[in-house]
Amino acid sequence: MRPPEWERTTEPPQDENLGGRIARILADVAPVDHDTRTAASRVATVSARYEDLLRSTVDWLWETDADLSLTFVSSPVALKLGLPAQVLIGRPLTSLGEFTPGGRPDQQPEAAIRARRPFRMAAFAMTGSGERQATYHLSGVPYFEDGSGRFAGYRGTAILAPPPKPKASADNELRALADALEEALLHQQQLSAELAAQPAEAPLHEVPLAQMAHELRTPLNAIIGYSDLALSGVYGPLGERYADCLRTIREAGQHLDRLVVQMHDTAKSEEGRLLAAEVLDVAELVAKAKALVVLPAQESDIDISRVGPMAAGQVTGDPVASTQILVNLLTNAIKYTPTGGSVGLETQAGPNGQLQIVIWDTGIGIPPDEQAKIFTTAYRVQPVAGGLVAPGHGFGLAISRELARAMGGDLTVSSQPGQGSRFILSLPLAGSA
Ligand code: ADP
Repeated sequence: MRPPEWERTTEPPQDENLGGRIARILADVAPVDHDTRTAASRVATVSARYEDLLRSTVDWLWETDADLSLTFVSSPVALKLGLPAQVLIGRPLTSLGEFTPGGRPDQQPEAAIRARRPFRMAAFAMTGSGERQATYHLSGVPYFEDGSGRFAGYRGTAILAPPPKPKASADNELRALADALEEALLHQQQLSAELAAQPAEAPLHEVPLAQMAHELRTPLNAIIGYSDLALSGVYGPLGERYADCLRTIREAGQHLDRLVVQMHDTAKSEEGRLLAAEVLDVAELVAKAKALVVLPAQESDIDISRVGPMAAGQVTGDPVASTQILVNLLTNAIKYTPTGGSVGLETQAGPNGQLQIVIWDTGIGIPPDEQAKIFTTAYRVQPVAGGLVAPGHGFGLAISRELARAMGGDLTVSSQPGQGSRFILSLPLAGSA
């Protein structure tokens, strides 16, 4: 797996603690200029870093409105309380547990909240579904409406409290972390505000994908969170076959989530510089992609038995992007083939040290004058009267070709209306560079 972008920045000093490291990472993107596009991609970069950091360093996240009712909690809370995170939305923050008295003045949240000030590491006792109590350290910062500056609520983090008497060094580490996270929250707000103040001139291909990624990840996290929750058995015992289904749902959700993150990365990095170049076994890639389309194929009664047997060879590319391209092409082949048709896949040697993976179908085909256009963003061939109308938005092929080219390959098509289509994904043969 390629390391996240922030891990690939220059090495931190050996003696740097976690808080210092976070602050350094954030400082990496701190300088602000007034170029809209740079501001947009910087916000996206900061958001992605911020999310990665938070996910790896805190137990859960929360946000409230001005009445301190929850507008967001991250899914780990659900596991703790045995309730889906969505059920908690709209309830008071204090319905999750209670602040316990004591601590320094900045650890007393009630006073801080009344004064709309940040609070740090306030002890918060929660009782989980198994009646076991746990104390978390809650930190929160107020946020304010753009324009009016009116108080809009609090956002913050929760970290499981350390054992009763932490060593001074551990305590310092936690405090440094809380400081850095608070700084991260404020920093992100500042960048978001800067972006909002810019005229809307950001390049179309960049901002919508970043926004789309956000929109997609919200329901995806619900899919992953709910399947996790169900698999954990909080609602009672689960039959092995249901557990299998849930694991497949979770895996598919996680795959999509990785994909969304990657598309987001690809949109941000002009030439897809963030894609990995790993040796990939084509048969394995195909098997993975096929598993994700078995269900739609069954539902439409499409024979996909010829997807896979002829796949052989090793290519160089990014595992997630390559799987995604194959999933897109197989999904399309199934979507645009009438019931009873077939979809297959074979490999063949291509020019210039490339391997070609051909996904063919016996579907409706594509008119010659449309074949170049289908690779442009948001373009869909208009169905002929009485013809097959499939759901879609016209993004899949544009993204797939961009990803294929970013990996040193290409994506092309040959097709005859009424005779089916052959989509050809070319990727560099492993060791051919
Ligand atoms: P979507 O399927 O969401 O519309 P795509 O970018 O994947 O978006 O495809 C763009 C268009 O290309 C589709 O709307 C469809 O008209 C056409 N198309 C793609 N794959 C096939 C195929 N296998 N057979 C026929 N038409 C296809």
